[in-house]
Amino acid sequence: MNNLDMTQVKRENQLANLDNSEFDVAIVGGGINGAVSAAILAARGVKVVLVEKNDFASFTSQESSNMVWGGIKYLQTYEVPLVWALCGSRNELMRAFPNRIKATSFFAAVGPTAPFGKVLGFFGASLYWILGRFQTKAPAVYSKEGAKEHEPLISTSGLKGAVQYDDALLLDNDSRFVWEFIKSAKKYGAICLNYVEMENATSNSAGWNLSLKDQLTNKTKQIRAKVLINATGPFASELNNALEIETKHTLALSKGIHLVVPKLTDHQHVMAFFDDDQRLFYVIPMHDRSVIGTTDTRVSNPTNEVTDADREFVLEQANRCLELVKPLTKSDIISERSGVRPLVVKRKSEVKNQDWTSLSRKHEIELDKKKRLITIFGGKLTDCINVGKEVSDLVKKLGIKEIRNRKWYGEDLDLKSSAFYSEISEYYPKNPQLAKKVLAGLIRRHGSQIERVIELWRKDKLNSQIIFEGLDFTRGELLYIIENEDVVKPDDLLRRRTPLKLLRTKEEIAQNKLLQEVLERISS
Ligand SMILES: Cc1cc2nc3c(=O)[nH]c(=O)nc-3n(C[C@H](O)[C@H](O)[C@H](O)COP(=O)(O)OP(=O)(O)OC[C@H]3O[C@@H](n4cnc5c(N)ncnc54)[C@H](O)[C@@H]3O)c2cc1C
Repeated sequence: MNNLDMTQVKRENQLANLDNSEFDVAIVGGGINGAVSAAILAARGVKVVLVEKNDFASFTSQESSNMVWGGIKYLQTYEVPLVWALCGSRNELMRAFPNRIKATSFFAAVGPTAPFGKVLGFFGASLYWILGRFQTKAPAVYSKEGAKEHEPLISTSGLKGAVQYDDALLLDNDSRFVWEFIKSAKKYGAICLNYVEMENATSNSAGWNLSLKDQLTNKTKQIRAKVLINATGPFASELNNALEIETKHTLALSKGIHLVVPKLTDHQHVMAFFDDDQRLFYVIPMHDRSVIGTTDTRVSNPTNEVTDADREFVLEQANRCLELVKPLTKSDIISERSGVRPLVVKRKSEVKNQDWTSLSRKHEIELDKKKRLITIFGGKLTDCINVGKEVSDLVKKLGIKEIRNRKWYGEDLDLKSSAFYSEISEYYPKNPQLAKKVLAGLIRRHGSQIERVIELWRKDKLNSQIIFEGLDFTRGELLYIIENEDVVKPDDLLRRRTPLKLLRTKEEIAQNKLLQEVLERISS
């Protein structure tokens, strides 16, 4: 039996046991908001099921800028309470995930399209630092010459100077971060199923009857739940309409794209610029590549792709703000991402185009007590702990008892990574730097499960082999992920549990024999 068959059998068993089961809470949607809700409720002893119609984090939560940030740009729209709350969440996430989330400097050019000068910029960055409770490095201001010296890539045309402040980044990718919460929920007994769609739901005074469809077999199952959580991100209003639920809020959708290109700067900092529309855009480090983005375009449909106009806009902005040896062209694009931000608006309000980019990024969670339905509207990855806590409070309000209070997020802070260094370095005797990098990657992505990955290397030395030069993913790690992380399709492994598909071109992936041999285990 290959790995895919084993995963399939596990799923079949779980689905078979599901039929006619009753849960305290059913969560629809396996993006960040569904995942944190499942994690906190399961940790508190609530009987939870989560269904995701594709793979976990395969929609908005795989398309973000990977920033864990306090939202400095919302100071421009005077949303001080939002920035205060986001800074608090950022600080908490940085404390709880010291390996996965890294404090990172943001080097913001005050160029010709900046809506303010460097003095005001520095004032804003200082206010941001204060709202961040001084948990990051103090901001700094640079003259035009100082900025160029610090980051030679920056274009001096119309440059007034630069401001540097600190925020944080997810070092792997957003969807892997979501998996952390799914894993935590499963550890505490939640049933979390990818490729299962909620097709239909009807409510009565006791709760909900749900009809679920396994996307892999087309079989349907019926379950009951006392409470339903709509965590479908950009689809939240659509689902509520189908369920005939009235809410005070609805969603406006804003498309944002990113382009992944070869690494542009040796610095590990994020470069920030103002685009022609005076919106901040960034050049963000991702492993051995740079990610440029993002855009903010009003759309009506949650499903969108990167268009030629998007590509041209982003490349043009980057070429204008950077002094590159050779301007970036479409042939430099390694991969692309496109997502829609679900932005919360009051149902009755009319969103005019001129207000568009100033719409708040704050989440709203609505409770329909009579129908026993909770809807999560909007939000940010950064705000996920608050979303989880608010959902758990509302579930309590609906009379579901929480019988435990276990830790539901964060890394194993007692793990001593140095304990594994000597063993790992034996596999890379001539390359201690690589050994350190592989160890850091394993600790970051697998925490205390690192021992189980290394066990595969002990069984077969080939498992220590690096998949792509320049990256720290090994054959053994990918095999571990396939076996243990609900991988059903190749993209679950390449795009979400790891960012390989973002970091290497389709051709590089197709030509990599070691990787193709690993993929055979999932694509039967
Ligand atoms: C371009 C861009 C950049 C961003 N950058 C950042 C950033 O740097 N930092 C930050 O903190 N935030 C950022 N965000 C915001 C953040 O990514 C989103 O707020 C967050 O991912 C939304 O998560 P979600 O769980 O609500 O939605 P989603 O991730 O979309 O999850 C909803 C899920 O519900 C599933 N679903 C829908 N209907 C059904 C059904 N009937 N049955 C089963 N499943 C169903 C969908 O398949 C989907 O996976 C960014 C967003 C975008 C678009």
